[in-house]
Amino acid sequence: MKLESWIEIPENCDFPLENLPYGIAKLSNEKTVAVTRIGDTIIDLQSLSALNVFSDLKIANADIFNQPVLNNFIELGKDLHVKVRERLQEIFGIGSNNTELTEKIKQYSLYAADGVKMLMPVKVTDYTDFYSSIEHATNVGKMFRDPANALLPNWKHLPVGYHGRASSIVVSGSEIHRPNGQTMPQGAEKPVFGPSKMFDFELEMAFVVSKTTQLGESVKASEAEDYIFGFLLFNDLSARDIQSWEYVPLGPFLSKNFGSVVSPWIVTLEALEPFRVKGPIQEPEVLPYLKTSGNRNFDINLEVLIQPEHGEENLVCSSNFRYMYWNICQQLAHHTVNGCNITTGDLYASGTISGPEPGSYGSMLELTWRGTKPIQLSDGSERKFIHDHDTIIIRGYSEKNGLRIGFGECVVKVKPAREL
Ligand code: CA
Repeated sequence: MKLESWIEIPENCDFPLENLPYGIAKLSNEKTVAVTRIGDTIIDLQSLSALNVFSDLKIANADIFNQPVLNNFIELGKDLHVKVRERLQEIFGIGSNNTELTEKIKQYSLYAADGVKMLMPVKVTDYTDFYSSIEHATNVGKMFRDPANALLPNWKHLPVGYHGRASSIVVSGSEIHRPNGQTMPQGAEKPVFGPSKMFDFELEMAFVVSKTTQLGESVKASEAEDYIFGFLLFNDLSARDIQSWEYVPLGPFLSKNFGSVVSPWIVTLEALEPFRVKGPIQEPEVLPYLKTSGNRNFDINLEVLIQPEHGEENLVCSSNFRYMYWNICQQLAHHTVNGCNITTGDLYASGTISGPEPGSYGSMLELTWRGTKPIQLSDGSERKFIHDHDTIIIRGYSEKNGLRIGFGECVVKVKPAREL
């Protein structure tokens, strides 16, 4: 049964009482604190703490919500996260009969979402990007290598990934300049330098790790979810022309590290529980350390929209997180099977999430098939890749039996390349 709150929740809203995502906000009174959200209302968790809402949960750090990032809260562990979630559902539920507390909350703890600036929710300690969509890997293999043997021989045996750059991950609402770099245009004899001409997005989800391990320890696939706090939307901005010249033999470098974007809300695994689904059948059979059972994929609808400056939003891609060939448990088990340590605040991105249909491809590279099939926008203009001043918007939500759990938006505006 759907939970009801005394806070108004608009129709088709991403943030019912069953969601309760976590973020960091600069409130209208200039305080920077941990927050959650119900409907269009931002809730100051530090102020709830001051009203003794969590006092019986015995959180040792009284300032756990009075922080510039969520890392310390995330480290408290799943048992406590579940208790905080239950307490929030209790006090914001329609059945809450503590009118004195309710009045104080209304007075001290609630803010209209449109007056609040959301900040980067975590200090990203390490960042890894996987490549776990079979449709995406196949499309890229067809375009850049051999259409008949698009997948490389290792792809179905391990979740391919690379270590990215944590410090250039920014929150939704940021602006990113088109990168300058070195490219080798087709037919040219030597490389040229200048602004990337093939600026792209990658539609991805990312999970945040909630436990720290020591170097030498491994996380078993069967226990991996105990190490995962929740998910964000992720846009892995990519310069395709820089990428195709630089990536041999060690993989992407400057084509990716100039900026990636996350949504401000971390939606917990608990909130996504009703939307678990089975992943695709894995054939050939994976090695024992990568075996998982149960429903380890999540049914999350994903959309990408392009909005030209002063123009309207154009939906260019509709995909779903459920298509992922490798699941999050396999990714974390593989990442640590050699003894690689993980840290609370690590971010693990899925790789571009493409579906089977052309309209579900998660990058311009695939949607326009390397620029050979441009997309028409509603203002009559064409896109092979992203133009300066375009805004890229990713939205994501799960929906089932009238319950909708959403992520809000992951938005970035592209600025012209810097003059050097
Ligand atoms: Ca990527």
